[in-house]
Amino acid sequence: MNVPVTGKYASAALPPHKDSKGYYFADALVDAVVEAARPVIPAAFAHHVTQEAAFERLEGSAPHTDGAPIPLERGKEIIIAALQEFDPALGAKATEILHDTRRLDSTQGQQCRPAGATEDWSKNPEPYAIIELEYDGTMNSLVYLAHELGHAIADDYGHEAGHSYRNNPEHMQETQAYFVQSILYDHLSRIPELAQAAEQHFTATMTKNLYNVPVALIAKQAEQNIQKGQEFQSSAIKDWFGEDWQKHPRADEMFDTAQAVNKAHRSGETQIPSSLRTELDRQIEGLHYRPMSLLVAAGLFDKLAGQDQATRHHASEVLLGRQGAKPIDAAFDAAGINGIKDIRDMTQTTIQRSTASVFHAADAGQDLQQSRIVAASSAPILPTRATR
Ligand SMILES: [Zn+2]
Repeated sequence: MNVPVTGKYASAALPPHKDSKGYYFADALVDAVVEAARPVIPAAFAHHVTQEAAFERLEGSAPHTDGAPIPLERGKEIIIAALQEFDPALGAKATEILHDTRRLDSTQGQQCRPAGATEDWSKNPEPYAIIELEYDGTMNSLVYLAHELGHAIADDYGHEAGHSYRNNPEHMQETQAYFVQSILYDHLSRIPELAQAAEQHFTATMTKNLYNVPVALIAKQAEQNIQKGQEFQSSAIKDWFGEDWQKHPRADEMFDTAQAVNKAHRSGETQIPSSLRTELDRQIEGLHYRPMSLLVAAGLFDKLAGQDQATRHHASEVLLGRQGAKPIDAAFDAAGINGIKDIRDMTQTTIQRSTASVFHAADAGQDLQQSRIVAASSAPILPTRATR
């Protein structure tokens, strides 16, 4: 499957060669996500899943209030069992990493340092990836342990295939981590005392990620408005979120963008000021990290979950770089996903699955604000772009 990249969702600052190397997800894939997200976003807003506190409640520390925290050793065993069930080779790799005390620091941070990394954010002189994750026994920390493990597995697989994390296409990095996270969510759905907390975590993650779609599209529109010398109407934001758009966790950013466009308009400026340029690029690029990577990974998992073990093994090796550094098209091929229609169906199913149950509960009168899931976690909600 070959999906052309035309740069519709590229940021202007990005060197063109990065597009052709698969730096970004292809436009047609992003279009499918935008279309599927469109009706869900106002629905989520209508259910008050807007403020940080609501996300924290959903993602937070259910086991602390409903039962005991999940001890680290049990957390590791759950993750290993999940991967083992999906693909025994992945289970073996997870065991190797999580049981190596040099490779997991559970006292601080939330990232995976690739082997031999020299960048400031991830410096690691060792020839193996190291996971840093402040593990506190909450659902959120269990999920992020699986996420960071996904990065570490991709790093190991890449090395075994003779490439480094620097060859791994940018759009693949978060996709790999979210894929392992998706395997965990599915496994948790079969552990009665953790199933509800896991489902709520998935919903919160998906909803918050979907809210990034309008932020990126508004940035693209702001770009065009300045170039065409047009004002920015705040109705563009209301179209996505309704009258309550200011409750959006990133409302300030969108408001600032609109203000900057109108300031440029008033002064007759048709070039984008450099400070705004940086912001817009960050917002547009963000789309390719979240929700694109999350949705693609969750959809791939759903597709593979119903297939035989040989297919699951092959596709996860392709996705996680064991067959060399490849773009997402290769993983789609391995999973039997053919064409944009398949992608569109996959995306819609994934979004509906992730949000339906919680919104349904809210419709039935169970106020999320009064949920028995009490927020106590101060763990970061989602990693920032630089956090891996
Ligand atoms: Zn990550």
